[in-house]
Amino acid sequence: MTAKIIDGKAIAADLRGKVADAVHRLSRDRGITPGLAVVLVGNNPASQSYVASKIKMTAGSGMRSFDRLNVDPNVHGILVQLPLPAQIDPHKVMAAVDPAKDVDGFNPVNAGRLSAGLPALAPCTPVGCILLAKTVQPSLMGLETVVIGRSNIVGKPLAQLLLAENATVTLTHSKTRELAAVCRRADVLFAAVGRPELVRRDWIKPGATVIDVGVNRVTAADGGSRIVGDVAFAEVSEIAGAITPVPGGVGPMTIACLLANTVRAACAIAGLREPAFGHRPADDRE
Ligand code: NAP
Repeated sequence: MTAKIIDGKAIAADLRGKVADAVHRLSRDRGITPGLAVVLVGNNPASQSYVASKIKMTAGSGMRSFDRLNVDPNVHGILVQLPLPAQIDPHKVMAAVDPAKDVDGFNPVNAGRLSAGLPALAPCTPVGCILLAKTVQPSLMGLETVVIGRSNIVGKPLAQLLLAENATVTLTHSKTRELAAVCRRADVLFAAVGRPELVRRDWIKPGATVIDVGVNRVTAADGGSRIVGDVAFAEVSEIAGAITPVPGGVGPMTIACLLANTVRAACAIAGLREPAFGHRPADDRE
C-alpha cells in the first residue's frame, strides 16, 4: 500500500479562506475586526521567525495584528510566543492571559474546561491534528487512537479532543512499555515526541492514518541540515493508509487554527454564535 499524503498546506489554506470569510462577515455585519496581540519576549531567532509568519497570515485574513500585550477592547486574542527566556515562568504568564482571549488555549481555565468537556479555546496544534485526521476519517467515533507524547501543549489536549470525538484513546510517553505494540493497535496514530523518525514501519497497523507533529532538525547526507518528523516517512508511507508530511503537514494547520481561534474568541466576547470551522464534535450532529 502507498499512503495518501494529507496535504496540510492545502487544508490550512482552505481553513484560512473560511476564517477570512468569517472575518469579512463579522466586520461587514457587526463592525468587529478580530484582533490578535502577540507577545514576544527575548530574541530567539526561531520565535522571531514564527511570529513574523503569524503576523503575515493574520493580516492576510483581514484581521488586525498587535505586537504587544494590549488591553484594548479591539484585541480578541493574545498569543505568548514560546519558549520564554529561562528566568520567566511560562505557567505564570499563561495564567495571566485572559481566558476569553487565550487563543493558544494554554491558560489553566481553558485546559480545565477542555478536560471537563466544556466549550473552550483549545490549543491550536492538537485542533489542527484532529482536522487533518478527519479529512480521511470523517468520524473518529469508536476508533482506536494512540497519541505518543503527553506535553501540555500537544499530547494531553489532543487526548482530550479525541475523547470529545468519542475515540478510544491511549496516551503514551517515555515510560510506556511495548510502545511499538501499543502503536500497532492504532487506527489513527499521532506522534508528538520530538525524536527524529522514532516511529518505524513495524509500529503501524496496515492502512492506519498517521499524523506526525514532530519537527526535528537533523544533519543531512551532504552535511547540511533538514527537517524530519517523529515518523520515518518513507517506510511508514508503504504501510499506512494516509500520512502527514513534515514539513507541510501539521505545521501550517497550527497557524490556521490560531486564526480560527481568534475569530471564535471575538464572537464569544461579542456574545455571537461561534463559527465551528469543523473542529467541534457537535459538528457531527449538525
Ligand atoms: P515535549 O514537551 O518535549 O514532550 C515530548 C513528549 O514525548 C513527552 O511526553 C515525552 O515523555 C515523550 N517522549 C520522549 N521520548 C519518548 C520516547 N522515546 N518514547 C515515547 N515517548 C517519548 O514536546 P512537545 O512540545 O509536545 O513537541 C513534540 C514535537 O512536536 C516536537 O518535535 C515539537 O517541535 C513538535 N511540535 C510541532 C508543532 C507544529 O506546529 N508542527 C507544534 C508543537 C510541537 P515524558 O513525558 O515521559 O518525558
